[in-house]
Amino acid sequence: MTPVDPHQPYDDDNIFARILRGDLPCEKVYEDDWAFAFHDIAPVADTHVLVLPKGRYVSWDDFSANASAEEIAGFVRAVGTVARDLDLVDAGYRLINNIGKDGGQIVPHLHVHLLGGRAMGPMLSAN
Ligand code: 5GP
Repeated sequence: MTPVDPHQPYDDDNIFARILRGDLPCEKVYEDDWAFAFHDIAPVADTHVLVLPKGRYVSWDDFSANASAEEIAGFVRAVGTVARDLDLVDAGYRLINNIGKDGGQIVPHLHVHLLGGRAMGPMLSAN
């Protein structure tokens, strides 16, 4: 798949935009005014949930530069709420956000991977 350019224009047909609109199915976990969360289709941990802001932001770079304070607060709070709702706080969990080519971002709508349910091990693989 083509890696995301963090500066590319927002594509309203990207897969997560279609999920947010309800055009494609997902296993929904959470929704509020600012954020939407659902299970990753190819989980790499017992719990692997994607949390998205509802706004049209390509990447963390785009979001951190252009989102309103309300959107940023709403999204950050939603990530914490999802982790608490899934009872991940006591055992711990990992958040990952991939940005652009070196980060390995594939889908051009900002999303945080929330991973839990087992010890995550080292932060990065050796290669
Ligand atoms: P990225 O590499 O962009 O950070 O991660 C994209 C993630 O989206 C991957 O973990 C991938 O499994 C997940 N994904 C891709 N397409 C779909 C889909 O149609 N539905 C769901 N639920 N997850 C998807």
